[in-house]
Amino acid sequence: MHCPFCGEADTKVIDSRLVAEGDQVRRRRECLSCHERFTTFETAELVMPRVVKQDGSRQPFDEDKLRAGIMKALEKRPVSIEAIDAAINRIKFRLRATGEREVKSMQLGEEVMTELRQLDKVAYVRFASVYRSFQDINEFKEEIERLSANNHGEPAAVDVAKALAENHAKQGKS
Ligand SMILES: [Zn+2]
Repeated sequence: MHCPFCGEADTKVIDSRLVAEGDQVRRRRECLSCHERFTTFETAELVMPRVVKQDGSRQPFDEDKLRAGIMKALEKRPVSIEAIDAAINRIKFRLRATGEREVKSMQLGEEVMTELRQLDKVAYVRFASVYRSFQDINEFKEEIERLSANNHGEPAAVDVAKALAENHAKQGKS
């Protein structure tokens, strides 16, 4: 690894230790030329399957995009970043665990819905309404009824779902 100070190609590792509960290696290095010291972190990069979109095109798995979608659904909702990170890690873990080199974008969407259903019902309904695009309005109504039946503590989710459904019905007419 080149020295970030002078560009010298030869640097020496002077200390190496495991950090982040063993998931990371921290190395202290010293430049053999200018003798500046710096630190590098090494983590395993696990290959994520590629995502096959509905039109058949393939895209690399994009964690930033996944996070942005989840964050948008969770806008102004009382969910911590830690909980979001944990959800993203679970999604990545499950996608890798398929052992497939490619997964359908639909499968990724279903994974997000599974996590959002646990994290926050309002966010779940928001995401589901966009993701499923109300392709089947009856399916969505069933989902609303399921939420109404199982989720006495969170009427907000039902309200949001109903508002979205009404909005959609209006747009459909015009
Ligand atoms: Zn140097």
